Amino acid sequence: PFHRAPPTGRRVAVVGAGPAGLACAHRLAMLGHEVVLMDARAKGGGLNEFGIAAYKTPEGFAQEELDWLLGIGGITVEYGRRLGRDVTLKALVEDFDAVFLGLGLGGVNALDLEGAERDGLRPAVDFIAELRQAADLAAIPVGRRVVVIGGGMTAVDAAVQSRLLGAEEVTIAYRRGREKMGASHHEQDHAASHGVRIVTGAVPVALRGEGGLAEVEFAYVAEGPAGLEESGERFVLRADQLFTAIGQRLGELPEGLATEGGKIRVEGAGRTSLPGVWAGGDCAAGGADLTVTAVAEGRDAAMDIHAALTKT
Ligand SMILES: Cc1cc2nc3c(=O)[nH]c(=O)nc-3n(C[C@H](O)[C@H](O)[C@H](O)COP(=O)(O)OP(=O)(O)OC[C@H]3O[C@@H](n4cnc5c(N)ncnc54)[C@H](O)[C@@H]3O)c2cc1C
Repeated sequence: PFHRAPPTGRRVAVVGAGPAGLACAHRLAMLGHEVVLMDARAKGGGLNEFGIAAYKTPEGFAQEELDWLLGIGGITVEYGRRLGRDVTLKALVEDFDAVFLGLGLGGVNALDLEGAERDGLRPAVDFIAELRQAADLAAIPVGRRVVVIGGGMTAVDAAVQSRLLGAEEVTIAYRRGREKMGASHHEQDHAASHGVRIVTGAVPVALRGEGGLAEVEFAYVAEGPAGLEESGERFVLRADQLFTAIGQRLGELPEGLATEGGKIRVEGAGRTSLPGVWAGGDCAAGGADLTVTAVAEGRDAAMDIHAALTKT
């Protein structure tokens, strides 16, 4: 249904080939602009390719969609090109008529506990990315007793996939009540129907084990006037693998950009504090951190860039 308009002679750099960057690049190309789309990874698709669980986007869906989007023409793709390492934002602003940043959230929050670097602990997003790229799922090691800390989609995806890979006991531990979980009721049911136990109102307070992980001690907590307060009761879960899914944050912030709540501050359709630079998707403040909103923000920024570039 989409056709490329005659070339406008304008060039736009799009950084990040995730849902936001792809939507922006496609819309700009459709409007006749020339787009250079760069991504630090060797493959495009962003979290559609490396993050969202395989059962949600099966059979190469992300790459098929990518090929379809690029089919509009006018988009040059540069994989393995990282903003901040291979090119600076200043250089992009100088070389292009506009820049769109769809960087996603490259950093993960770490567990603030002694021994959090020991074997058996890893960020859930790394585990999920490994699963998405694995040629042989049976070759991926998974614990016998798995604990996942967190309450969002990432926690559910790591927990369900641990069960599917053969883990005997999988527990999601979340610090607040079920109604506060980032994972929807549907996803919570999905986890439960795969034999995942969800424990709420619990925070990990100690990791134990000689060398690797053997058990995790939790404190029960409840919301009080001063935030989450310990009830005084504790319990221990045996665990040989622990996945942390306690949030992601912006990786390296490109120079000169104002932030808000740890993300790139934007106004209107993704205008950042730097003239000529737009941002959208997970890296931009105020969004819902969902694929559909990332796509909408990429498209809306493209329309705003187009308006700015064609203004007489
Ligand atoms: C485990 C997990 C499960 C999820 N499940 C769902 C779900 O079921 N439904 C849903 O709607 N949403 C889900 N989400 C959220 C959804 O994946 C994101 O909201 C969406 O991918 C955001 O798109 P984006 O383009 O902003 O960022 P991303 O998809 O993260 O893409 C960012 C891209 O930018 C590239 N990049 C980053 N930094 C640089 C740099 N310096 N230079 C060059 N390139 C760079 C990255 O390599 C990446 O390709 C999930 C997220 C996770 C982590």
